[in-house]
Amino acid sequence: MTELFPWQTSSWAQLSMRPQHAHAYLLYGPAGIGKRAFAERFMALLLCQQPESAAPCGRCKSCMLLAAGTHPDHFVLEPEEADKAIRVDQVRELVHFVTQTPQLGGRKVVLLEPAEAMNLNAANALLKSLEEPSASTHLLLISHQPSRLLPTIKSRCVQFRCAVPGREMSSTWLGQALPALDASQCEELLELAGGSPLVARQLHEAGVLEMRAQVVEGIKRLLKQQQTPSQLAESWGALPLLLLFDWFCQWSLLILRYQLTQDERGLGATDMAKVVQYLAQKAPSASVLQSQQWLLEQRAKVVGKANLNRVLLLEALLVQWASLPGPG
Ligand SMILES: [Zn+2]
Repeated sequence: MTELFPWQTSSWAQLSMRPQHAHAYLLYGPAGIGKRAFAERFMALLLCQQPESAAPCGRCKSCMLLAAGTHPDHFVLEPEEADKAIRVDQVRELVHFVTQTPQLGGRKVVLLEPAEAMNLNAANALLKSLEEPSASTHLLLISHQPSRLLPTIKSRCVQFRCAVPGREMSSTWLGQALPALDASQCEELLELAGGSPLVARQLHEAGVLEMRAQVVEGIKRLLKQQQTPSQLAESWGALPLLLLFDWFCQWSLLILRYQLTQDERGLGATDMAKVVQYLAQKAPSASVLQSQQWLLEQRAKVVGKANLNRVLLLEALLVQWASLPGPG
């Protein structure tokens, strides 16, 4: 059965014990807090034939079919590729599903994530289903950025804010989820994950701490002229490009901030603190700003999945960084 995270217990009680369920819910909150798992559990509850103390039983026919992904009365709508739009023809399939009679004779549930990925045509097609609700169907819309949704969509949903874990709960949970790591490694992961414990766990599974150490070591060798930009770019062949660009964007911001404030405590990411401090003292702000601008432009291309030559791109980045401290 889908995991309920400890920070979700009171939200779950609030939602699951409603005497009557709304036709459409908008479950919203920042990315990386477990909204999808929460919505999947709620879908299981709505479909379960014998719920027990406001939880899906996990044993009935409906629960079994759902766990196998073959429940005929559930429908999951998401972009076909991550970060792409939900298209109008996908929403038309949903609208068709809503008009069908439930095959198991109970409810039908639709899960749509992220709702802001619908383009205008898709959103308008969905509005029809929201305006003419069918009694047995429930729509669960998930949104990381509800401000980007059409007001007409939002107003037809019961809006439900999903709980965000606090810093302490995130650390505790991550420590339990990854018992092999010590407290400082967990803190480091959480920092890299922007505070989200679930993103932190994913990063760990992707081996991000090892990658980070490799990158930081590489930059130090680059600045000491022990390795050339092209050697380094080659050796980073297996690292995710977006992660690299995120890190370099963060570091150039830290350099600029340190140049303005001279505040050592603000350096945060301890593994790069010395390098950031060194570059802040050596590099002219104008060069750092220029590099930051370039990084943001290239990052947008990486996000847009432009056809990039990654070695050349990384080499260009590293040539810039190698020359930041200036001659001598
Ligand atoms: Zn069940």
